Amino acid sequence: MRVNLKDLSFADLDSLVAQMNEPAFRAKQVRDWLYKKNCCSISEMTNLPKQLREKLEAGHCADGLDAVRKDASGDGVLKYLFKLRDDLLVETVYIPEEGRRTVCVSSQVGCRFACAFCATGGQGFSRNLSLAEILNQVIEVRKDPEAGEPTNVVFMGMGEPLDNFDAVTSAVAILNSPDGFNIGGRRITVSTAGMAGQIRKLAETGLNMNLAISLHSADDKTRSLLMPINRRYPVDDLIRACADYPLKHGRKLTFEAILFDGVNDSPQDAAKLIRALHPVRAKKINLIRFNPVSEISFRPSPPEKVNAFKGLLERAGIDATIRVSRGADIAAACGQLKSDYFGVTR
Ligand code: SF4
Repeated sequence: MRVNLKDLSFADLDSLVAQMNEPAFRAKQVRDWLYKKNCCSISEMTNLPKQLREKLEAGHCADGLDAVRKDASGDGVLKYLFKLRDDLLVETVYIPEEGRRTVCVSSQVGCRFACAFCATGGQGFSRNLSLAEILNQVIEVRKDPEAGEPTNVVFMGMGEPLDNFDAVTSAVAILNSPDGFNIGGRRITVSTAGMAGQIRKLAETGLNMNLAISLHSADDKTRSLLMPINRRYPVDDLIRACADYPLKHGRKLTFEAILFDGVNDSPQDAAKLIRALHPVRAKKINLIRFNPVSEISFRPSPPEKVNAFKGLLERAGIDATIRVSRGADIAAACGQLKSDYFGVTR
């Protein structure tokens, strides 16, 4: 099977071109085709000598993804279902907003963490996505005339990004690099369910991006009910890793909390959250309205309770916002993504 050029790091692409006795600038030309011109075929790289294209094609490709379905929401959100080389499926969401156009990418097919409120978790884990499969999600959205040029990328689709550490961190580096997609670090967000050990490892990479943590509750019993991963990385351990995370100037860690009626939305829950997050100096909290998933029994917290919860956080000096998750009418909102084989139109 030929290796996708988008699976190579910049250093590996440089070596490949050098091994072919080509000057170094050829690697830059290949990168331009891949990441600036959305190229999905080596034969389209017309400023490369024919001989080099043939050498590259002998063992490599630049394939994109095959969109087998696209849904458009009434609020402008687009959801893509992509078929991978092994016929597995992943979803990607495009979210246009005032001043930004975000691509929400998946990092795994399925997920091994089985959060109780998440459709992806309910389908089990198939495999990690490769670097090329992650980057191609952004490229395919860029190629779609119905979507505007993406300004932001969030790793909040299917899967736990830090469970696919190497591919996700390599993708962040290429998304951020001026020789890659040239998307600023403030516009790239990796969201984790709270793999404390991987957060420490991520801190050592020095990558330029935002980090969001799906916390949902600071009470171990409640959090373990919502997120079984909490039994492995309890709240204390997770918050310590977050407090130690080196933030770039002016950045804040984002903590996400989906509020469920009668589960984690009481004033006592807010007080616990405020106490637990005390060691994290620069932080903000997104309170997210839950989008019901048919097979999941939790109900969204009513708006008045969400507002009261936000008020308590603000009174404690914490920057809090209420986020409305978009695309619920096409099951594209937070927690609703799954590889739905049924209903795929080919
Ligand atoms: S919320 Fe994230 S970590 Fe939890 S099951 Fe869903 S995809 Fe996995």
